[in-house]
Amino acid sequence: MHRRSLLRAALVASLLLLLSAPARAADTRLRVVASFSVLGDMVKSVGGDHIALTTLVGPDGDAHVFEPTPADAKAVAAADVVFVNGLGLEGWMVRLIESSGYRGPVVAASDGVKSRTMEENGATVTDPHAWQDLGNGRLYVANVAAGLAAADPADAEAYRAAAAAYSAAIAVKDAWVRAELKDVPSGQRRIITSHDAFGYFGAAYGVTFLAPVGVSTEAEPSAAGMARLIAQMRSTGIKVVFFENMASPKLVATLAGEAGARVGGTLFSDALSPPGGPADTYLKMFDNNVPELKAAMLGM
Ligand SMILES: [Zn+2]
Repeated sequence: MHRRSLLRAALVASLLLLLSAPARAADTRLRVVASFSVLGDMVKSVGGDHIALTTLVGPDGDAHVFEPTPADAKAVAAADVVFVNGLGLEGWMVRLIESSGYRGPVVAASDGVKSRTMEENGATVTDPHAWQDLGNGRLYVANVAAGLAAADPADAEAYRAAAAAYSAAIAVKDAWVRAELKDVPSGQRRIITSHDAFGYFGAAYGVTFLAPVGVSTEAEPSAAGMARLIAQMRSTGIKVVFFENMASPKLVATLAGEAGARVGGTLFSDALSPPGGPADTYLKMFDNNVPELKAAMLGM
């Protein structure tokens, strides 16, 4: 009898523990959504343990064309703050936010960037790839810190401190990129990629990028555009064409074959690599890309 009541007491105790477990484990962190992996890494670097982050377009994903799932809509609906790149990168985001019923702040990380435009199929379009200039990256970080602090004033000081340290690391990386590319002769500073994602990088660090597809991966390259690019490659002696991690490799292989060039390594433009890969953070993206670009240009 005594033993049975002990057993019952133990059962009741463990049942109570089970019932109370969800309440004790309740997540009080700020719920944050970032639209794509590069921005997600920046938000994580600033938000640290104070935020619970959902990144919509993950590693190797294409942020230009994305079909959100019901789970994505749920994450947005539950968010305290949403971060997007802006500059027209995430055309799908407007509808996702509308359909989710989310009414909270939407922070464009590129706010204040001096945007670039380019001609695409006869129209002038805004180039959204501003993060490829590390100077702009520091602006993104400032916007992210301000957005997090506004949504969670109690942790504002932590966000400010993390952003300051991260911004300093970005400045160091920026100086490293300039030093790495310093010795590339001006006549050899030309690179072919699959889509036009490196306009800001080119402007910041003095490299001309050519691509058969415009600033969005949505467009198909025209036959005339391909022919023009092949002729340009032959006349300028460009010998290397780069893959991008999130774009179709077929186009690049065709270009290389037609122009007698070889396919270089992989550049990370619009998405990070999966964790453990060569470019699983914003800063490591440059660690991967810059030596690839330098070797290709010096080999011309
Ligand atoms: Zn892109």
